[in-house]
Amino acid sequence: MTVSQTNRRTRTVLACLAAVLLAASPALSGRASARTADRSPASAVDTGAVLPAPPDRQPILRRIADEVSADTLEAVLTKLVSFGTRSTLSDTTSPTRGIGAARRWIKGRMDTLSGRCGGCLRVFYQRNVVAPQRRIPDTTDVVNVVAVQRGTTDPDRYILITGHYDSRVTDVLNDTSDAPGADDDGSGVAAVLEAARVLSHYRFGATVVYAALAGEEQGLFGGKGLAGYAKEHGWKIEADLNNDIIGNIEGIDGIIDNTTARVFSEGTRPDESGRTARIRRFTGGEIDSPSREVARYVDRMSDYVRNLHVMLIYRLDRFGRGGDHSAFNDAGFPAVRITERNENYHRQHQDVRIENGIHYGDVLSGVSFPYLRNMAALNLVSMASMAWAPPPPDGVRIRGAVQPSTTLEWQAEDASRSPDLAGYRVYWRPTTAARWEKSVWVGRAARHTLEDVVIDNYTFGVAAVSKDGFESPVEFPGPVGAFFPAPDSAGGGGGR
Ligand SMILES: [Zn+2]
Repeated sequence: MTVSQTNRRTRTVLACLAAVLLAASPALSGRASARTADRSPASAVDTGAVLPAPPDRQPILRRIADEVSADTLEAVLTKLVSFGTRSTLSDTTSPTRGIGAARRWIKGRMDTLSGRCGGCLRVFYQRNVVAPQRRIPDTTDVVNVVAVQRGTTDPDRYILITGHYDSRVTDVLNDTSDAPGADDDGSGVAAVLEAARVLSHYRFGATVVYAALAGEEQGLFGGKGLAGYAKEHGWKIEADLNNDIIGNIEGIDGIIDNTTARVFSEGTRPDESGRTARIRRFTGGEIDSPSREVARYVDRMSDYVRNLHVMLIYRLDRFGRGGDHSAFNDAGFPAVRITERNENYHRQHQDVRIENGIHYGDVLSGVSFPYLRNMAALNLVSMASMAWAPPPPDGVRIRGAVQPSTTLEWQAEDASRSPDLAGYRVYWRPTTAARWEKSVWVGRAARHTLEDVVIDNYTFGVAAVSKDGFESPVEFPGPVGAFFPAPDSAGGGGGR
């Protein structure tokens, strides 16, 4: 391709981009019109002065974090380990051993919790029949145990916590040897059940789902199954917090760290269309997928958990490894992996044994319950905050090329349908910053111009805020960042 061809093609793409970014809004030319553009249409928004920002500290989140119990987590995890093996291929009929006994106990626990909140949870088995394949020798029922706590004002919006209750030993097809799976992933399932215990005492605007998944070790079949179910049933998933291996503090290298959670998230959505990828190339957004914004949100919520901070990792998962959150990502849903800081590979996917003085196996003694408590608390405060907050704004757009200011616009919420919405907060940060650094409260406006903030030098986003001060994750403009893209949008077809 010649230089002039390249230029012509670039110009064409840029022209398309301009059309996309400026669609449905008057083109701006120069500073004066940028100022006038700050006045939003009266039909869509309140035109009065910007109200004071709601409080950004939430004592109730601190209380929720404090309600998480290390003792309860230990009792639940001890019970899960008592089933001997929870291999997806193991016995399903014994009342005491194997995955069948384990899932009946998990469902019983969820039913009990539901009974304590007046039947607030709809508990069910979500079954997936998996045909024989590499890690599935015979047709197998992969059964997830799911509890749904319906939202009061926005029940179609879903916040999920997931962990996998299946376990394995060295040979992934071994369905009889002891596979205690204490850390991988009894720890995650204990967090799921603790979330159900604590959060079922509260009422949230959005629907909250607690799910124990199976079939992870055989190929993420439980995650794929529940993501497929969610899609089929039209769940608008704002976030799946997937917890996998969250209780060990002693790394294979001997380093002990009980104050750090790792949160893995992918930078771009896998269902991105070619058109969206082209837009992203010219406007940025390669580190601002909805999943990444969920990760940043969890990081922020760690302020409510004593002695725990978040290490954000800009990668789908551990290097070359997988987890159920990726099944949700593949279905177009925002999802992250929450996991311990230092993994111990002697304790994962190993036959329980002593060899050359080394203890192998995923046994209960490898789990720190004070640490697991904090990891669970991180999930609970993040879920509660999101479920009390409004959804991230729809239709966020941005413009400001060759101007000294930057304008963001989004779809105004109908006040009658969003009685809890107080307004919006616009965020920005230098393009190389990992976390949002600056923000401005703009009230119920549906548009805001940041004067003297040059669009080229920063990354921007918008969050919705409730009257009580609960904030949604920040949303990056356009299809690249849309939490709930329209089915026919350039953001793929997921999310709806
Ligand atoms: Zn696992």
